[in-house]
Amino acid sequence: MKEMLIHSIGQIVSGDFASPFIDGDSILIRDNLIAEVGYGLSADADATTINADGTTVIPGLIDSHVHPVIGDYSPRQRVVDFIASCVHGGVTRMISAGEVHMPGRPTGAIGTKAMAIVGAKAWGNCRPGGMKVQGGGLLLQAGLTEADFEEMATAGVKHLGEVGLGGYHDWNKIAEMVQWAKHCGMTVMMHIGGASIPGSDAIGAEHAIKVQPHIASHLNGGPTAPSLADIERIIAETDAALEIIQCGNAAIIPRILDLARQHAALDRVIIGTDMPSGTGVIPLGMLRTIAWVSALGDIPPEAAIAMATGTTAAIYNLPAGRIAPGLQAALVVMDAPIGSAAADALETLRIGDTPGISGVIIDGEVVVRKSIHTPPARRQIEVS
Ligand SMILES: [Zn+2]
Repeated sequence: MKEMLIHSIGQIVSGDFASPFIDGDSILIRDNLIAEVGYGLSADADATTINADGTTVIPGLIDSHVHPVIGDYSPRQRVVDFIASCVHGGVTRMISAGEVHMPGRPTGAIGTKAMAIVGAKAWGNCRPGGMKVQGGGLLLQAGLTEADFEEMATAGVKHLGEVGLGGYHDWNKIAEMVQWAKHCGMTVMMHIGGASIPGSDAIGAEHAIKVQPHIASHLNGGPTAPSLADIERIIAETDAALEIIQCGNAAIIPRILDLARQHAALDRVIIGTDMPSGTGVIPLGMLRTIAWVSALGDIPPEAAIAMATGTTAAIYNLPAGRIAPGLQAALVVMDAPIGSAAADALETLRIGDTPGISGVIIDGEVVVRKSIHTPPARRQIEVS
């Protein structure tokens, strides 16, 4: 049994939107799970200990919207190692919104089914930089049957990539397929807004209300935002999670959050990046979007962090995303960066800056010390 103790923590952010802080100054990890959170905890003599020097610990960020393909390579931007790079931006888990950038992507029912199964299985065995990727985001195609969905679920496919991508636009049939997917326990995300890649379509409130996805993807556009009237209908007439992303329209974010606030739906907001895309590859995309949501949208930073961790984990039934005993130990240690007007990591986000990451822990292993991407944290961790 392997133990790790993080002590001298200044503030612990829980990842739970309803209760965003946890009392305590230490976290004990046993093997790959969080064992205990509290004050003055101790560990075995041979445990790894981390002195957090009064800084902030949050759950590892979960990017709800990524377009990986196979391995740590993006054919869209011809970039390698972008997934491992995102670990330096505090991301410990990604959900595929569909492996749509696959060169020569097979279409038709059998092709798209094969892609989803390969994606789910290959990503289950591939951990760039320690990152956990939920791959195999099925893209709907004409000809898929209910039996296909059952077969895919048995083979490990857990979710649909963005409904509306992939050039298939028979909305009656799509709504039926989404029902089959839900019966098989799959989570359903849906492209919202203007057309993205060639072959895709503009998708608004009427489509979302008909399909009733679990997640209304990129309400701030991927990259083109829908109208505010459509956004309000989606908030009011569906139960979908309301996703805000990095590679979209930043100006509309405060207005989406105002609508969510008016409809008492802030607990449905989740945060992702939608990269790689035409906008690029942005390893700090999650931290930057959290900062936008907090600084532009007047959301407390600890609540914005929950939108990027625990709320997404709940939608996907992941044993992660919050700091609580029994959950997987994916944690980020961060502080205000050198020279910031802010005193600590949370104030940094609240004023719209990017915090400095001094440590990332996945499954009880320190996978990053001193992020290569964030500005340097004012106070660094000490590992012994
Ligand atoms: Zn999209």
